[in-house]
Amino acid sequence: MFKKAVFPGKYIQGVGAISELPALIDLLGKHGLILASPTVHDKVLPEYNVDWSDRGIPIEVFHGECCEDELSRLAAAITQTHADVLVGMGGGKTIDTAKIAADRAGIPVIIVPTIASTDAPCSGCAVLYSKDGVFDSVCYQKSNPAAVLVDLGIIAAAPTRFLVAGMGDALSTWFEARSCERTQSANECGGYSTRAGLSIAKLCYETLLSHGVAAKIASEKRLVTPALDHIVEANTLLSGLGFESAGLASAHAIHNGLTALAETHSFYHGEKVAFGVLSGLQLTDASADETTTVYSFCEHVGLPTTLADIGLGNADRRQLMVAAEKACAPNQPIHHEAGVITPGKVLDAMLAADALGQERRKRTGR
Ligand SMILES: [Zn+2]
Repeated sequence: MFKKAVFPGKYIQGVGAISELPALIDLLGKHGLILASPTVHDKVLPEYNVDWSDRGIPIEVFHGECCEDELSRLAAAITQTHADVLVGMGGGKTIDTAKIAADRAGIPVIIVPTIASTDAPCSGCAVLYSKDGVFDSVCYQKSNPAAVLVDLGIIAAAPTRFLVAGMGDALSTWFEARSCERTQSANECGGYSTRAGLSIAKLCYETLLSHGVAAKIASEKRLVTPALDHIVEANTLLSGLGFESAGLASAHAIHNGLTALAETHSFYHGEKVAFGVLSGLQLTDASADETTTVYSFCEHVGLPTTLADIGLGNADRRQLMVAAEKACAPNQPIHHEAGVITPGKVLDAMLAADALGQERRKRTGR
C-alpha cells in the first residue's frame, strides 16, 4: 500500500462566493444543470439576482432522498438537457446525489454546500440510501468534486445547530487521523496518510479550539466574522481533507453503532460523532489534560457530552451493547485503534464518557 491523498479541484469560500458559480460552470463545461434542495430553490436562489434560466442553466429540485429512483430521474434530466457539468446545492443528501449522478454520467460536479454541518462536500464519496431512507452503501467516485464553492453569507444565515454539528464532525478528524498514523491503518482513499493529511487534521483541531466558541456566537447573531470564516473552513475543507486522506477510527465507528438505536435518529451526524470522540478518548486512554480540553470545548459550543444529549438517557446496557457490537463489526474503522477492540470495551468507554459528562455538568452547571 502506498501513501495517498485526494483533494477537490478548487475550493472557493467567502461572502458572495456564489457569484463565481456562472463562471465556474463556463470553465468546466458548456451546459450546466443545477440540482437544488427545496430550501435552496425557494429561499436561497431567489435572493441572488442571477437569472439562471436566462443563462440557459436549468434547475432541478431535489426530491429528498439520495436513492436509485432519484438518481435515475437526474440521469434523465442530464441527458435531456445535454448537461456537461452538474451543480449540487444544498445539504448532505442533495450534494451526495449530485456527486453520484455526475460520476455515473462522466461529467464534472460543482458542490455548493448551504450548511456547514458535515465534512462531506470536499470528499469523493457519498452515501446511497433506499427510497425509504435506509442506508444502502457508500459510493466512491472516480475523483473528488471539480470545485467546492462555499458562500459564507448563505452559511451564516442557516441555523446554528448545523454549524455546531459540523464542529462535532470536525472534532473527530484529528483523533482518528492520529490513531490511523499510530497503527499504520488505511485512510479513506485506500492508502497511508501523507504528512499533509495529518497536518491538515491537526490544524482542523487547533482551529476548532481557537475559534469554535466565537464562531458559534457569531452564527447565533447571524454575523460573518473571521472566526466564523475559520470554522466553516475547518468544518468543510480541513475536516474533509483530513478524514479522507488521514483516515477514520473509533469516533465514526461509534457513530455508526449509535445509528442502530432509533432514539438517536433525530440527532445530526456530527452530534453523534462528537459523543463518539468522547467515548474514543476513554477507549484509547487519552491523557487527563486532553480529555478535559475536549469536554470543555464540547460544553462551550453545545455539543453532546452525555448519552441523554443524544436521546439515550434511558438506554440500558443491553441496548447500548447493540450499538457497541455494530461499532465493532469487522469492516468498521474502530479496528484502526491500537490493540484488540471488543464490544465490551466500547460499551464501557461509552458509559465512562457519559458518566464523566454528567459529573462535569453537575460541577460546572453547563
Ligand atoms: Zn463524519
